[in-house]
Amino acid sequence: MKALREVDRGFPGTIDTLQELIRQPSVSAKNEGIEECALLVHRILKRSGITPEILRIKGAAPLVYGEVRSRANPGRTLLFYNHYDVQPAEPLDPWDHPPFGGTVRGNKIFGRGATDDKGELVTRIKAVEACLRAEGDVPCNVKFVIEGEEETGSEHIGAYLKKYRKKFACDGVIWEFGYVDSSDRPVISLGMKGLLYVELSVTGANQDAHSSLAVLIENPAWRLVCALNTMRGPAGTVLIKDWYREVKPLGKRDVRLVSKEPFDEAAFRREFGIDRFVGGIRGTAAKKALVSGATCNIAGFHSGYGGEGAKTVLPAKAVAKVDFRLVPGMDPKKQEARLRRHLLSHGFGDISVKVFHGEAAARTDLGTS
Ligand SMILES: [Zn+2]
Repeated sequence: MKALREVDRGFPGTIDTLQELIRQPSVSAKNEGIEECALLVHRILKRSGITPEILRIKGAAPLVYGEVRSRANPGRTLLFYNHYDVQPAEPLDPWDHPPFGGTVRGNKIFGRGATDDKGELVTRIKAVEACLRAEGDVPCNVKFVIEGEEETGSEHIGAYLKKYRKKFACDGVIWEFGYVDSSDRPVISLGMKGLLYVELSVTGANQDAHSSLAVLIENPAWRLVCALNTMRGPAGTVLIKDWYREVKPLGKRDVRLVSKEPFDEAAFRREFGIDRFVGGIRGTAAKKALVSGATCNIAGFHSGYGGEGAKTVLPAKAVAKVDFRLVPGMDPKKQEARLRRHLLSHGFGDISVKVFHGEAAARTDLGTS
């Protein structure tokens, strides 16, 4: 890993700018500091020689746009997509440093957005600035699209894309991530899995009851547990009918590349304190799962009493947040319909489904990359 000081020597002001950005809260889920952060990003772009502009759509967080035109190569345009919003900092207890402090300790910066995505954003801005300082030009036109609603599901990005289609036109996009692996090699991802995020809820009695009444009153938590149990097999396979219907297996070239990908299984297991992977897979199967595996994951489950000690309660309601990672071929709308059909056909018509987010996967064909 390059030392922070070294980075700062090559790209002056990188650390200061990142700290400045981290210190400005920008929690989209709570609309906390969003406007202020957009203005700050605008100032940072300007300082770095990038022409900034704040774009607006009614009811949406402002989108910060930036542009540098290349004199040497004006026919090509690269667009960086990033976001200035962050996830809420809660729970606050486990933080060793203030979430909006940008504390530097040794070779690390701590704070919300240090990674995902303020850190990545700053490195890109500083890279463009470094080109401008050294050459007075950039190798091709560069555009920045920096949105403020990514962490809440990019609700208005489609509307922004439609409205500013011409402005955002480009030959290629580099998505928000960008990191180096343990041997300092830059990692380039050629796609993203999609997501279907739902809340399943079921109501029992019209009020919480004493648990002795469980002989008569059905417990909604059990209903939900039973329903969830029909959705996923022990090896992680999604058991919903036709879930994988449109999915094509990875091509030969993809498999070859994936199997060559460096992935230290043992180190990964150590990092997460587990001794096996889902379904006991290893080697190439594990690498393929990372790249092309679909999931059904319980992101949260709430019902009854979860506090200290014991409370004999029969809850009136149970709620589960479930996220499905989707792979190319899966259409979120179709998958949602399949989920609803699954619940009905398994006798769980009383469970309501609320969809928060549905986004298809994207993958760049290796043949064109
Ligand atoms: Zn992100």
